[in-house]
Amino acid sequence: MKRLIVDMDDVLADATGQFINFYEKEFGVLVSRESLNGKEEMERFPGHHKTVYEFTFQKDFFRTMEVKPQAQRVLAELNKKYELFIVSSAMEFPNSLPEKLEWLGEHFKFLHWKQFVFCGSKAVVYGDYMIDDLPHNLERFNGEKLIFTAPHNLQHNHFKRVNDWLEVEKLLL
Ligand SMILES: [Mg+2]
Repeated sequence: MKRLIVDMDDVLADATGQFINFYEKEFGVLVSRESLNGKEEMERFPGHHKTVYEFTFQKDFFRTMEVKPQAQRVLAELNKKYELFIVSSAMEFPNSLPEKLEWLGEHFKFLHWKQFVFCGSKAVVYGDYMIDDLPHNLERFNGEKLIFTAPHNLQHNHFKRVNDWLEVEKLLL
């Protein structure tokens, strides 16, 4: 079986949508997804970067994210064909590890906890395919790198791109 590495934030979970939700709660302004297109993570909310960064320390930030469309169905199929690991950074934000574990348990019941890898750096990971939204995670990976479209990565053109889970399905199943 080929080994497939899948990220959580902005791949399985709608992290961008969660930033927009928390921003609206804090500032009373609903930011459109389109307005974030092509902006790096640090440039997304001008003047409020520090507050937005601190959202990630708030309770339930990681626990209540929406699942990306079709992610459950396609991942269930991939899980039959690949040696699948969910690899997610969870050291920087203290709440994120238990919240991500609970989130996976709720939304991806068909996965075993042995398939979850919570880490500080993904440089330690190897496999045949990696799906991630962040170029710096893909750059150091040994296998085939697939960038999952998110507003903050549209300007990166040096990886094979998958726009959504239906495209992942076509490519890998
Ligand atoms: Mg991510």
